[in-house]
Amino acid sequence: MTRRVTVLAVAVLAASLAQGAAPTEAKEAKAGRAPRGKDRAGQADRIFVNGRVWTGEPGRPLVDALAVRGTTVLAVGTSAEVRTHAAKGTDVVDLRGRFVAPGFIDGHLHLVGGSLSLEALRLDDAFTFAALAERVKGWAAVHPDAHWVTGEGWSYAAFPDGLPSRLQLDALVPGRPAFLVSYDGHTGWANSMALRLADVSRETKNPPGGEIVRDDKGEPAGVLKENAMELVGRLVPKRLPHEKESALRRGIAQAAAWGLTTVHQAGSGEEEIELLAKALEAVPRLRVYAALDIERDPTADVLARQDELRRRFASDRLRVGAVKGYVDGVVEARTAAMFEPYPGGGTGLPNWTQEELDRAVAAYDKAGWQVMLHAIGDRGVDMALTAFERAARANGTTGRRHRVEHIEVPRPADLPRFKAGGIVASTQAMFPYPNQNHLGVYVPTLGPERARRALAFRAIDDAGAVQSFGSDWPVFTAEVVRGIACAVTRTTVEGTPPGGWEPTQRLTLEAALRHFTRDAAFAEHAEAQKGTLAPGKLADLVVLSQDLLAIPPERIKDTKVLLTVVGGQDTWRAKEF
Ligand SMILES: [Zn+2]
Repeated sequence: MTRRVTVLAVAVLAASLAQGAAPTEAKEAKAGRAPRGKDRAGQADRIFVNGRVWTGEPGRPLVDALAVRGTTVLAVGTSAEVRTHAAKGTDVVDLRGRFVAPGFIDGHLHLVGGSLSLEALRLDDAFTFAALAERVKGWAAVHPDAHWVTGEGWSYAAFPDGLPSRLQLDALVPGRPAFLVSYDGHTGWANSMALRLADVSRETKNPPGGEIVRDDKGEPAGVLKENAMELVGRLVPKRLPHEKESALRRGIAQAAAWGLTTVHQAGSGEEEIELLAKALEAVPRLRVYAALDIERDPTADVLARQDELRRRFASDRLRVGAVKGYVDGVVEARTAAMFEPYPGGGTGLPNWTQEELDRAVAAYDKAGWQVMLHAIGDRGVDMALTAFERAARANGTTGRRHRVEHIEVPRPADLPRFKAGGIVASTQAMFPYPNQNHLGVYVPTLGPERARRALAFRAIDDAGAVQSFGSDWPVFTAEVVRGIACAVTRTTVEGTPPGGWEPTQRLTLEAALRHFTRDAAFAEHAEAQKGTLAPGKLADLVVLSQDLLAIPPERIKDTKVLLTVVGGQDTWRAKEF
């Protein structure tokens, strides 16, 4: 077995393919499937034998060997069959029973935010105020020169009332402004100095789509919801492009180590797309399918500018094909749009009226874009589905594969609309992770009736929808085996609660794998090129330390990614492999 780690060739970003068309490499591969020369006919560059290869192909889901030639899969089959493709110079890898799957595809993450989170003040899993306080004080102590103390990931569960106060943060960070963002990115926690610098006082009105939480005297309490976050957020020193780019390089390498071969970037401005292109050229270990930020008023000029980006970035390394917008907020901040009030009152904060949303979606649909809409509450999900259905009807379009992102609390009656409208259900495998935030804040905020129909992965599958899994990194880790473990067990890594939270919604292992491979490929119009292992498909694959189909579900989380391959090239190799 070789221990060679090859790094991918520099990405070629010049191809100018229409959205949804076959990416470059796979096209070449199809054209080149006829032998290039008689002596090279059927000869593999590398073969993997004696493994357990889950291909994701319904006709032949399990084989034990696979051959790769160039950037694509040459053959799958028994070890004896595949060995017929070996010749002098073929690298033969004896898998010794290890598990191979198509390369993992994360259908929804934020690569820049995730990458920056690898080095930032992270407050994840600090479920008590004491744990959180220790981390904030610790970070502030080792960063005495930072003008601001900023961080993210705090959980609503760390606070008895579900929300923090500025006075608590004043005690932790007395001499500097501080601004800490919740784990879901929808709520900001500011200290008094930060509020003062931002001129947020009792006289300040709530901005549209946002809320300044007040104490019982009417003073800002230190909590800024949704669009109100910007009041303080705009003062926080922005990361410089070169800082973002170096973070991105680390983030891309980390993604490869998690077994990811493609990720879907859920919304970016033009500048961020350029940054991604640069980082992917420097560290070509990942494919990125990117959505641009949706524009509320997509005039002809706006569409022309976005279309130019779509034409420029159309390779299978970085492909722009969608726009992404937010219909509503999140459950814990009670900003997800609901039909019925939250237990504490209010029905959420939609960012659009139905008419505004219909108009924007129809314009993008007409111009050939896939539209991705964040929608969490039942009313938000209905608004997104309605806009997609109306756009298809008005424009006479089919096959756009518009996507609803998150779909946390849909009405059961709305689930068949996904299949009927060809709409992709883009969910996040770790969202039902039953930690203290989930059980102590998320579930009570929904109330019992809604909690029972929340994060209903099995019901979505049963309704015949194509369900694509993602992580929403940095909201949750993008470590795919953790996501699979959560979707299959619906327990924490400690195994709680016994049997799992809402266990009827647990998925089979095969379903979870399919959502992270073939279905996520479908969600980016690329199932003909990737997402399963079959001759002619891109050689994007992972080798795992244990056979996921044979082990008990509680052991899935211990699985190690041993090797990640993108287009035939190794992008990650564990020391022990
Ligand atoms: Zn997201």
